[in-house]
Amino acid sequence: MTTDVNIAIIGAGVVGLAIASKLSSHYEGVFVIERNIKFGQESSSRNSEVIHSGLYYPTDSLKAKLCVKGRNMLYDICDTENIPYKKCGKLITASAPDEIERLDFIYTKALANGVNDLKFLNSEEISLIEPNVKAIRALFSPSTGIIDTHALMKYFESNSINNGVDFAYKTQVTGIVKKDNFYIIEVKEPNQTKFSFTSKIVINAAGQEAENMAKLVGINNESYRTYFCKGEYFSVKPPKNKLVSGLVYPVPFKNFTGLGVHVTVDLGGSLKLGPNVIYMDKNVYDYSVEGNHKIDFFNSAKRFLPFLNIEDLQAEMAGIRPKIQKENEPIKDFVIKDEVKEGFPGFINLIGIESPGLTSSPAIAEYVESLIAKYF
Ligand SMILES: Cc1cc2nc3c(=O)[nH]c(=O)nc-3n(C[C@H](O)[C@H](O)[C@H](O)COP(=O)(O)OP(=O)(O)OC[C@H]3O[C@@H](n4cnc5c(N)ncnc54)[C@H](O)[C@@H]3O)c2cc1C
Repeated sequence: MTTDVNIAIIGAGVVGLAIASKLSSHYEGVFVIERNIKFGQESSSRNSEVIHSGLYYPTDSLKAKLCVKGRNMLYDICDTENIPYKKCGKLITASAPDEIERLDFIYTKALANGVNDLKFLNSEEISLIEPNVKAIRALFSPSTGIIDTHALMKYFESNSINNGVDFAYKTQVTGIVKKDNFYIIEVKEPNQTKFSFTSKIVINAAGQEAENMAKLVGINNESYRTYFCKGEYFSVKPPKNKLVSGLVYPVPFKNFTGLGVHVTVDLGGSLKLGPNVIYMDKNVYDYSVEGNHKIDFFNSAKRFLPFLNIEDLQAEMAGIRPKIQKENEPIKDFVIKDEVKEGFPGFINLIGIESPGLTSSPAIAEYVESLIAKYF
């Protein structure tokens, strides 16, 4: 039977968009369904906008491989497509002697991941790069940068449209049924009208909802259980927002739940502290920032930003990570999988696409292309 479309992609965050852009250069009949009014309204616009270099992740994990590859691909895309970015570099700082061995660990891990441009700096060398940052030792990563995420997503969307992709915004996937060798996808439009169409391939890039999309088709895998994990940011008010020029991180938590409250700069010149790590009691889209967390941000950042006073901070924004790593568990890898073994060939799940999902997005798209090639 001929299906209505060849490839249905659920979700127009940066990952769904990168996949649409990539696949539409080789395949016809690509359709993207997004519940929001436009692309990138969820995690993809509520993050640090950092192009990570790939230092921390377990060697040979998808996170490590796709981050290193995606980072190089992103810089190339930015250059050829005039997407604003800045390779501002990142300092990972040790503020106390017991943190120095964590720097050694990161250095070794980075080398194993193919990141071989890190440099150790002493306090004098640190002050040459960031005169207002205090640390006893640091690792400098020159290949870390920041990117205009909205411009990147706009590029992926425009390229997809040029390649013939159809986008259905304000349209929510409400049901998926496997029939013979294709899928029937039921969607709901804003006026509550429901319609369905058929697709040979389904790519589940639904971010926070990816676990639920998998359940719709009948895949109920305990390891896909997703926890909403909020990350809040506080901004540094002018004029102190000019006192740091690049990214400054403390040594990360041992289980990499988060990278520690760090300093991010954006291309507009604002300086933010964050994100923290708050496992939410319920999976709800609560983007509020708790004002009384200001003191925790201040205490964390004061160690390496001695110029900071608590009055310099103001609540800024929050994002939510779709974590499959339970609180206090070791780091979990991205799940990017053709569910053929579960009896759902051509149903590609992308589960737990938290950081470094933005950085990895073009490499994730290539990886997904390699998974679906056998169906054409
Ligand atoms: C606080 C924070 C900081 C981060 N910092 C960085 C960073 O500095 N660098 C980095 O590389 N990564 C970072 N990340 C990770 C990065 O933001 C994500 O990995 C990336 O945005 C994931 O993109 P996505 O397309 O998978 O998900 P999303 O952007 O969440 O997109 C999923 C889309 O699916 C849609 N959808 C869901 N259900 C349905 C449905 N039923 N029907 C139709 N559409 C549906 C949603 O509306 C949404 O638009 C950060 C994340 C957070 C939360």
